[in-house]
Parts: sequence; structure tokens; C-alpha cells
Amino acid sequence: MFVINPNRLLNLKEYGILIPLLDKRFIECTNWVHNNIDKSYIHILEEPMPLTRGELELCHDSEFINNLFDNPEKEIVRTFELIDELGNYYRYDPNIATRPLTELVDRISSHIRGSLLTTELALKHDFAFFMGGGLHHSMTFGGRGFCLINDIVLSLRILQQQKRINTAWVIDVDVHKGDGTAEITKDDDSIITFSIHMKKGWPLVTPEFDPKGNQYPWYIPSNIDVEMEVGQESQYLKHLEDSLNQLKNQYPLPDLVIINLGSDPYEKDELDSSQMINLTLEQMKQRDRLIYDFFKQHNIPQAYLMSGGYGDYAHEPYMEFFSYLNEQGTFQ
Ligand SMILES: [Zn+2]
Repeated sequence: MFVINPNRLLNLKEYGILIPLLDKRFIECTNWVHNNIDKSYIHILEEPMPLTRGELELCHDSEFINNLFDNPEKEIVRTFELIDELGNYYRYDPNIATRPLTELVDRISSHIRGSLLTTELALKHDFAFFMGGGLHHSMTFGGRGFCLINDIVLSLRILQQQKRINTAWVIDVDVHKGDGTAEITKDDDSIITFSIHMKKGWPLVTPEFDPKGNQYPWYIPSNIDVEMEVGQESQYLKHLEDSLNQLKNQYPLPDLVIINLGSDPYEKDELDSSQMINLTLEQMKQRDRLIYDFFKQHNIPQAYLMSGGYGDYAHEPYMEFFSYLNEQGTFQ
């Protein structure tokens, strides 16, 4: 099943935010699906409702939630990093905004219904893929790194609340660490997190203690982390395979897995902060097949979220993955 939110396309400039987010990945992937997959396997999200306060409370604290409703500017500025070190607006000009920031919060919040629906459809059909979502940097206390609300943990906790699942794994292969997901679930044994990411760069990955023995505040471990140094691409697939086996040996198999399938480890990705892992298209193909085959073999329902992927070529790894799924008879 593919889940598509036609309302995903958004022009941040209408809200005064001057970040040129490219929609090409979404458009190319959506077109591919419409042209190659029978429409009975495509679910179009019709006017989804923003999340309720009760739903948000499953993974965020009350100060953040109050701000989302009463002071959205504060949370958008923090999430999209719109203030520079001197305290001036950066990439943000409220004077050119033609739409209110509360509306932007509602659009992001309602978009996340797609992530939730994708996990529900995965339980029913064993496989579902959302053309969006994967806001893995969002933490208990608020948004970071363009990620406002953590749709990954939120979707899992809603399913747990409804008693549709007990346990889940999160497999995060975006080039950036799934630090928000790890932070929110740090005391939650029912959600096991794995992240393979760049060792250096953003978000900062620190050791647990500084030289004086004090704990670093940004030390946020997943259950299993693999930190890749520059130039280690040839070892990536081996690390991934070993980690999946390690998860299997250390934890009971889950009722559901969410795969945060960022395409930003791809060598043609154009975001400056994703340049420390550069996998070829062939390696990206192998990455996605390895994950899909592993969970298929173990009969675990798989829900995919797109997460990061930037520039003119960010859609290419997904096309390869979708073609593989098609060859496997996933949509028959
Ligand atoms: Zn990323």
C-alpha cells in the first residue's frame, strides 16, 4: 500500500520562511506509483485532521503542546532554525507572510495522519509506504532540524494505546541520527531503536562523558547505533546486516517495524550536512533490499516513512526500491 497526501506540497514562503524545500522527490515518486501500481494499492489521504492534544501528549510535553496551539511562532522558529546567533531573524521575514503560522502547524500536524495510517495499513497488508513523514529529530520538548512533531513515536504509541501492537522496532537509515526518536523512547522498552548515521556533523554525536566525567546533555543513545566515519561506505551494508542480526539476537521480534528510509546517504544528495556518507545507487538499492527482505523473512509488518532526501536526484533510490517491490509481487 502507498499512502499519498496531496496537500503535502507547500510553499514555505507563504508563511514568511525562506527555505527552498524541493518537492521534486515527492512529485517523481508519486508519479511513478500512479504510473506503475494498480490504484487499489494507493490510498489518497482526504483532508486529514490535525492531531489532538491527547494524541500529542503521547510523546511531547505540555509546554511544547501549549505553544503549538497558543504560540506557534516560537515552535516554528525553533524547528526551522529561523533565528541566528545574534538573535536576528534568519531565513524568515514575517512581513512577507500571507498565511498565519498556526496554519503551518496544522498542515504539518495533519500530514502526520499519513504516518499513522501507514502503520495501520502495514499491520493489515504487511507493507505500506508513506510519501512523507519520518520527522526523527523532534524531541519530547519540541521540534528540531525541520522536524516539528515526532510522527514515528506518535504513530506507534497510538497503536499501542489502541492495543493493536505491543512492541515495535524503528530502523533509521537516514544519514542523520534518529536522535529525537531515541530521546523520546529512552525509558520505553516496548520501542527498540536502531540508527546508522554519520559520526560527525549534525546532529552532534557525543560520547557519554566529557573528560571531567560529566555526562554530555546531548548524549542520546539509540538501543543500537552505528556511527559511520568518512570513507567507510564499503562497510555500510555489512554493518547494517550485522545490526539487524544483533537486534534479532538481543530483543524479541516486534509486532511492527517502522523504517525511516531517508535517501540522504545517497552520493547525489545535495544537502551540505549529508555529505559524510556517500553511497552509490547500487549500495542504496542493496540497503533497501536488505531491510525489506529481512523483515519479510521474519513476517513482520513493515511501515516506511521517507524522512530526508534533498535535491534533484533524491527520488532515484526510491524508484529502485519501488521497482524491486513490484518485481517481488508485493502489489499483487
Ligand atoms: Zn536526514
